[in-house]
This record gives sequence, C-alpha cells and structure tokens, in this order.
Amino acid sequence: MDYRSHEVIQLLEELVKIESTNVGKFEKEIGDFVAAWLERETGLPVVKDEFEPGRFNVVCKLEGEIHDPAFVSIHHMDVVPAGDGWETDPFVPVIEGNRMYGRGSGDMKAGLACGMLSFRDMVKLGKKPKRDIIFIASADEEGNIMMGAVQALKSGYATKDSYVLDHEPTAGKIFMAHKGKTWFKITVKGAQAHGSTPWVGIDAIVGISEVVLGIKRRIDALPTDETFGQSSVCFGTIQGGFNTNVVAESATITLDMRLAPPLTSEGSLELVEEAIKEACEKVPGLTGSYEVIARRPFVLHNDDSLLLKELQECVKEVTGKYTETAVFTGYTDSGVIAAETGNGNCMSYGPLGMNYHQPNEYVDLDSVLEVYEVSKKITYRMGFEID
Ligand SMILES: [Zn+2]
Repeated sequence: MDYRSHEVIQLLEELVKIESTNVGKFEKEIGDFVAAWLERETGLPVVKDEFEPGRFNVVCKLEGEIHDPAFVSIHHMDVVPAGDGWETDPFVPVIEGNRMYGRGSGDMKAGLACGMLSFRDMVKLGKKPKRDIIFIASADEEGNIMMGAVQALKSGYATKDSYVLDHEPTAGKIFMAHKGKTWFKITVKGAQAHGSTPWVGIDAIVGISEVVLGIKRRIDALPTDETFGQSSVCFGTIQGGFNTNVVAESATITLDMRLAPPLTSEGSLELVEEAIKEACEKVPGLTGSYEVIARRPFVLHNDDSLLLKELQECVKEVTGKYTETAVFTGYTDSGVIAAETGNGNCMSYGPLGMNYHQPNEYVDLDSVLEVYEVSKKITYRMGFEID
C-alpha cells in the first residue's frame, strides 16, 4: 500500500519532522506550523492561547448554534525527549511496511493529524453546526501539570459540559477512566551521634525504612478494583546520612503512588500520615513531615456518557467491530478536564502503536487511516446530528 498517497500520512510525516520535545524545544515551532496550517486550510481565525512566554495551545473554532456544550477535539503537540537506543533518527520519519517510526509518531502526532484533518473537513462542508466544534492542539501534555489542558479550561474552551475527545494511542479502544496519582516527598528527622554509640542519637534511616515499609504494607492490603486493578507505589528516590560511622540526622524519599478505587486522593494523604505516625512511634524521638509534589484523583468510567455511546457506534461503523473500554494507567488532557471539572464526557480513542516514551516508537499506519475515518464520523455526528 502506498501510505504516502494519503493526506493524513503526509501530514503526520510533517509533524514528526518538527521536534517538539518536552523538556527540550517545546511547542513553539510545531505550534506555529499548526496555526498556519489551520489558517490556510480553514480560513477561520486561529488563536494562540499562551500560558507562558512562547508556550501556547493552538485553538480554532467552527461556531455553531449552541456554544456550550461544544464538541472539543484536543490533541497534544509535545513529545517526550528522544533518549538513547534508536535505530533510526527519531525526528526523521521512516515508513517500513505498515509502520512509521519516529518520536511522537504514535504519542500522539498521528492523532493530532487525524484531529486537524477531520476538523478541516467539517469546516469545508460550509454548514453551520448545531454546536461549536472546537479544535485544540495542546501544549505541555507530557509535562507534570499538563498546563495546556489547564489553560483550555481557564480560557473556557472546555467546560464541565463539553464533549471532549483526544486521539491518544489507545490501540482502537476507548479509554475514559484514569488511575489517580499522588507524588510525595517525605522527610524524617532524628539526631546525629557517633556510629559507635547509636543509642545516643535517633537514626533517621531506620525511621525512613519504617515509613517505606508502612506505606508498602498499607498499599498491598488494599482491595483490587475490578476495573482499575490495584493501587501501587514506587519509591523513586532516597537520600540520607553522610558518613558510615555517623548516625543519620535526616532522610528523605520521593514516591509515586497510583490510585485505584477505593483509594481516593484524600485517602492517599491519610495513608502516608498514618505510616509516618507509626514510624515515629517505633523510633522514639523521630519526627516526620511530607509535601505533595503532584496530585490527581482517579476518574471513573461513565456508562451513561452520550459521547461514549456515539463514539462506539462510529467505531463500529468504520471497523465492523464493537470496541472495548479500558482504564488509562496514566493521564491525558481529556483526563485532566474530567478530573478538574467532574465532566463525564471526556475520553481517548486513537491508533495502535508501540514504544511510546521509549526508543523506536512507531505507529501502525492502517490504524491511523481507521482513526481518521472515525474522527470524521464522530465530529460530524456531534457537530451536525446530535441535539
Ligand atoms: Zn500522549
């Protein structure tokens, strides 16, 4: 098959060639490209919605009868850094068989290309839709706080009632639910003493060990949720002490906790507080405190979602198959909008690929063609057919 004869594959190649690493070059160059493309292809005004100097979402709106809820098609422009271990140049797209290799090919410039083209196609119909169709190419999805999605909310392009869809690589499934996460920095303080007389001091490293085991034990004891699976914890870093023969005065860990029901965001804080309290009881004189570095609640699946029902039908019409829904272990722009507003119509549907955030990332081009068809169908349906 000559994939390059398809406009969506040509556009995908252009997008992969523009490095938009986060951290790295970020989105300025690709943002300028997307904005110019939208202006040229749609003739509509394009907004660069800046949240930091040089960093912005690109927004284009096809105005309809109703402004809220709008249909919001949101896709991130940034990619994670290339890293080592590539067999090809990560910023030179290479087509081999039905795969395109390149950083961001799957996550998620293929979805971005599908979103750009299906939006353009709706504008070209020359009709006024029933509701606003808003296209957003977002920035900072790969950053810690996803400032692009937050900005889309601040500027009112997405609201608690919007129908929000991204084309993240979901291998043709629909992802609506997200695990939550809380990242902590925990420090315990003891008292320094000579290594030969440790009973004179208070050993902060023994203390932090108690904290680690206390948290792990509590996480392991939580029940497994049928949909989300198990909550988890990763103790990413540990620091403490300065010499072998000195009792450590302080010790610090950072940890990444992923939340599945029944562990709520609030509950994750309580769990850590209890573990610190227990450690302080076991190591007399020890004190402990924590800081929350990042925090997002879990997002539940919503079977009553209108967008979910319509999207499932569109996928079935294109592929002939009913598609499954599954839980995203990570977070995306649509997940942020759901978590921040309680919106129950936010989801991801996109192509098949492999090696996201790793060397030799690729996307399956047949699945990209399929996602483009679904993207056109669902955008048309939400824009022109559904009241
Ligand atoms: Zn992504």
